[in-house]
Amino acid sequence: MSVSTYFDTMDYGPAPESDKDARAWLASHEASFGHFIAGRFTQPGGQLEDLDPASGKRLAHLTQGSAADVDAAVNAAQAALAGWQALGGHGRARHLYALARTVQRHARLLAVLETMDNGKPLRESRDVDVPLVARHFYHYAGWAQLQESEFPDHVPVGVVGQIVPWNFPLLMLAWKIAPALALGNTVVLKPAEDTSLTALLFAELAQQAGLPAGVLNIVTGDGSTGAAIVAHPGIQKIAFTGSTEVGRLIRAQTAGSGKSLTLELGGKSPFIVFDDADIDAAIEGVIDAIWFNQGQVCCAGSRLLVQEGIHDLFIARLKKRMEKLKVGAPLDKCSDMGALISPVQLERVRRLVEQGVREGAQCHQVALDVPPGGCFYPPTLLTGVHPAATVATEEIFGPVLVAMSFRTPDEAVQLANNSRYGLAASVWSETIGLALGVAPQLKAGVVWINSTNQFDAAVGFGGVRESGYGREGGREGCYEYLKPRHRLNRAQRNAVSATPAGARKDSPLQGGLVDRTAKLYIGGKQVRPDGEVSMACHAASGERLEDVGLGSRKDIRNAVAAAVKAGGWSSATAHRRAQGLYYIAENLSARADEFARRIALTTGVSAEAARAEVDAAIKRLFSYGAWADKYDGAVHQPPLRGVALAMPEAIGVVGVVCPEEQPLLSFISLVAPLIAMGNRVVAVPSQQAALVATDLYQVLDTSDLPGGVINIVTGKSAELLTVLAEHDEVDALWVRGPAEFSATAERLSVGNLKRCFVDHGEVTDWHDAAQAEGSEYLRQATHVKNIWIPYGE
Ligand code: NAD
Repeated sequence: MSVSTYFDTMDYGPAPESDKDARAWLASHEASFGHFIAGRFTQPGGQLEDLDPASGKRLAHLTQGSAADVDAAVNAAQAALAGWQALGGHGRARHLYALARTVQRHARLLAVLETMDNGKPLRESRDVDVPLVARHFYHYAGWAQLQESEFPDHVPVGVVGQIVPWNFPLLMLAWKIAPALALGNTVVLKPAEDTSLTALLFAELAQQAGLPAGVLNIVTGDGSTGAAIVAHPGIQKIAFTGSTEVGRLIRAQTAGSGKSLTLELGGKSPFIVFDDADIDAAIEGVIDAIWFNQGQVCCAGSRLLVQEGIHDLFIARLKKRMEKLKVGAPLDKCSDMGALISPVQLERVRRLVEQGVREGAQCHQVALDVPPGGCFYPPTLLTGVHPAATVATEEIFGPVLVAMSFRTPDEAVQLANNSRYGLAASVWSETIGLALGVAPQLKAGVVWINSTNQFDAAVGFGGVRESGYGREGGREGCYEYLKPRHRLNRAQRNAVSATPAGARKDSPLQGGLVDRTAKLYIGGKQVRPDGEVSMACHAASGERLEDVGLGSRKDIRNAVAAAVKAGGWSSATAHRRAQGLYYIAENLSARADEFARRIALTTGVSAEAARAEVDAAIKRLFSYGAWADKYDGAVHQPPLRGVALAMPEAIGVVGVVCPEEQPLLSFISLVAPLIAMGNRVVAVPSQQAALVATDLYQVLDTSDLPGGVINIVTGKSAELLTVLAEHDEVDALWVRGPAEFSATAERLSVGNLKRCFVDHGEVTDWHDAAQAEGSEYLRQATHVKNIWIPYGE
């Protein structure tokens, strides 16, 4: 017999991992758990059952967290906050380091319990999840150590509420709590109701490792417990990982509350194979992309796009490789795939596959030989799928791959981006130029080149579009748990004195200015408002000045369309964008006196103050001209042979609603960072001092900025904000003004899950560069795409 015959005929014997220690730990709690609050377990309530998905048998009883339980946990977290912060960065670094060591000491127990609770193969919980958990605590121990030197202008947000799903229970816990704790926050975390055991074990181990009571609190329960965390007024930030549907609910529920929010949601990530790819490597990539964790991975490469010339060959080889996947008992060390999480999920996957077939796909499945009673589903490939089919657009969240073909790189990009999600993408080509050319065009937070499912604590992870916002990992992840220090000490709003209506005198010509008809500024042209209507502008003294266009829903739509069309600005070189900003500054400075007069007239400030505002605006434009080609990314060195490029990218079209105060400076402070970073803007200027913005039209006209990059629609701020917030082609909102503006922006942003940068009615001193300029604005004007590039053989 030849060696290859042995390979073909040998079968795997069972190699089960012992569950003895995990069962002993469950028994030590009589398989019944309360919450973990203030360093100890509460009395078990026993309302929920935690099942083993591979057998359907009960592992433990859990407690359904009530609003009172959440309250107790928040109180414990609040009580622990001052002490935890007083430890300083180094003190917390020591604790995080101890947590990392604890995870490593109990790695086997944690991996076995995770596999029992979740159904994932032990090979994955042991070799991927748990080591990555330890790595997160080590990495963030480092950020705690460096906090005082690296984030001197930031403070922790406070008590953080965190909600995680069932697909990576312990890993998601680590992604959430490691940065939160490292940077001086305390935590109330709710694990998913199907998989709470490793969170409870972790809390117990953390307490044994000396973590102070109340710093980490675990409340178990279903969605209603999650909702109670979201609603609790003592929580300053919500970090959520889960479905887009629940993410939307949370956005709506927290709108206007002042809570900061990060959402890590679903995905339908493309896996693009060009005809010059290393086919064997790409096939192994597909196996990992969609059958890792039974496909229950938010960033699973669930849409296979193969270039036409190799499509049939690729699919044939993939089917052959699928036959070798071993689906079986999760604790068996030879299993490649275990069980899905629950009968409900199993049924959902079945239903979607049936629908796919009904809609015309051909279905290829691997025959199963699995233990009885478990939620097993075979590796499944659907070919001949139409890009608009349900299975090509809906997240299935199971071991189901849908395949399509494409002809050219442009078509690949179009197909890849044809999704409401934008979490991850995988690009396979041996031509580095092609791969690196395609990566920036993909709407995704992470791109893996010739690789897939790479994760590391040093490299940010997170999505765009309906995959959510915020990043976990690395320096980006730190900022999610910090807030600028100046927010603590806001100066009084320099109130723009509201002029009583009765005091207004109608006088068409004021201040020695020649009458002008102020229109709107859309697509680089001055246009009349759609309804041909205008509103009167008044001087601070009450005198009637000129009219300005009263923008409507239709005008905002036209402005957004112009901004969408100006997409070339996002790919213009940083040098080109810098030139645009300097040029605006130059033209503004040539007309500084005129602007100063206008500001003094409309806001009532002194001539000196008005002049100071113009000078500050010019300076700010120079700052962002400077930043345009200097706010660049980083090269991370995760533990692999290769690098990950963290590249800030423009968000797209951003709606800006400016505050009333300091109308020129606040306008420039909001618009300049956005366009410096390659965004296009639809701005609603100060309502009272709209004339200051309309004077800018001529400055912009002579400034060499492509039409549509900056659009200005004057009118009633509150009404125009609503239109911007509801518009699906607006990708983000920057809103300043009364607190209800922030609430409206957040509440109405749920349609396409716009990222909102709002002030909740707090005051910004626009003259103070520390609060009105710099890295916070640049960070909010971009999202970071992480492009992983492994190298070597
Ligand atoms: P889910 O949204 O139903 O549940 C996630 C968590 O939210 C659970 O703990 C649940 O109890 C809780 N929850 C449910 N309703 C709630 C409410 N109204 N208020 C507050 N909390 C509530 O999602 P799921 O089905 O458990 O998880 C699968 C989803 O998670 C998939 O869509 C997947 O793509 C996504 N996911 C995303 C990432 C990521 O990083 N982007 C990672 C893992 C999973």
